[in-house]
Amino acid sequence: MEIRRDTFWNISSDMQIWFYILAGVASVIFFYGFYRRYRLWNRGRKEKIQWKNIKENFGYFSHLVIRQTKLKKDKVAGAMHKMIAYGFTALFIGTVLVFIDEDFRIPILQGKFYLIYELVLDIFGLVFMVGIVALLFIRGGKFRKRMLQSKMDYLFLILFILIGIGGYIAEGIRLSETNIHYAHWSPVGYVLSHLFSGSRLFNGDTYLFWWLSHSLFAFVLIAIIPFTKLLHVITAPLNILISPVKRTGDFDAVVLMKDDQKDRIDVRHIYDFTNLQLLSIDACTECGRCDHVCPAKLSGKDLAPRNIIMKIRDNMLENKVISSFISTEELKQCTNCSACVEACPVSINHVDLILAMRRGALPEELLNPHAEEALVHLEHDENIWGSPWSEREDWTKGLNIPVLRKAEKTSREA
Ligand code: SF4
Ligand code: SF4
Repeated sequence: MEIRRDTFWNISSDMQIWFYILAGVASVIFFYGFYRRYRLWNRGRKEKIQWKNIKENFGYFSHLVIRQTKLKKDKVAGAMHKMIAYGFTALFIGTVLVFIDEDFRIPILQGKFYLIYELVLDIFGLVFMVGIVALLFIRGGKFRKRMLQSKMDYLFLILFILIGIGGYIAEGIRLSETNIHYAHWSPVGYVLSHLFSGSRLFNGDTYLFWWLSHSLFAFVLIAIIPFTKLLHVITAPLNILISPVKRTGDFDAVVLMKDDQKDRIDVRHIYDFTNLQLLSIDACTECGRCDHVCPAKLSGKDLAPRNIIMKIRDNMLENKVISSFISTEELKQCTNCSACVEACPVSINHVDLILAMRRGALPEELLNPHAEEALVHLEHDENIWGSPWSEREDWTKGLNIPVLRKAEKTSREA
């Protein structure tokens, strides 16, 4: 008997047509959603992707995406995320291979390669499912404080589980009904096929239902990715790869500029951020690692770096004024310690974003008008009074203030 994949076993040709129609609809929604987001990023100021950054980021990419080392600090959550990410990647590659084999008519899923394919995918599918179920449990337990308890997150996890259950049951029925001699190369399906033998619920007649449930839930997942935080499966690795290379704690040099200058470094509206910064914001996984280390957040202040990122992301559809959804208090409370940047597993630079918004907020009473004026004078004349540099001591006249001259020591040092 020939060893090869029978993708549409027991599925009528009419149903196969419907399958392709729905797959097409899901793909169109996915690409439309992704393009919509891409257009939003491009409304920001243009910053070119630098190849030298990609080269330098490559090692970092393997560190963060492949080995996921930043997630190790939370041992349990890190292990779960690894299982989900590795499982998801293996299943995605497996689906692409089916697509090439079935739709491009390039016969790759046959013989020994197909047996190994079945073994690897069956195991990684199981790893993925275990990771998802464990994450469901730990979300409600130990890590509750750091993780957001959004209903949407639970729905994603349940959707993943439904896709997995439908897939394994369909496989178990197929193996049970066809009795192929290489069924043991799909260990999970093989065990299920024995459990299903003689079952009324899991047999050739109900196969269509399980196969459909697997396919339809998978299409729903594909369609919602660009409209939800699941977009991070694409944007997070992308951001890690292309984000500007900087040492943590390095700040951009600031030059005060007039409003009409194009290359402004202050951010008053959302699209004053650069395209790469807007993309980086869409990479947020809402994991809360930044909040967990932020001194402002930990001391009960208004500032929470995750909130800052999520608020920008959720308002990105319009060029809103930043001050309409982020208060100057929040911006003022940042100490620029960079702990959030260090903790973020997807290379978001909160400090650059906050500093740019803080500069943008200067005219909006972040500073009182006199302090702002003094800073501008300091920048232009090196004298906060706005008079020439040589007159900067004049304000001390008549006040009897001692002036320390070169090589003189203060009373403490003496
Ligand atoms: S840089 Fe600012 S936002 Fe980030 S951890 Fe420090 S205080 Fe919090
Ligand atoms: S900004 Fe980074 S650390 Fe903070 S929640 Fe998003 S992904 Fe997690």
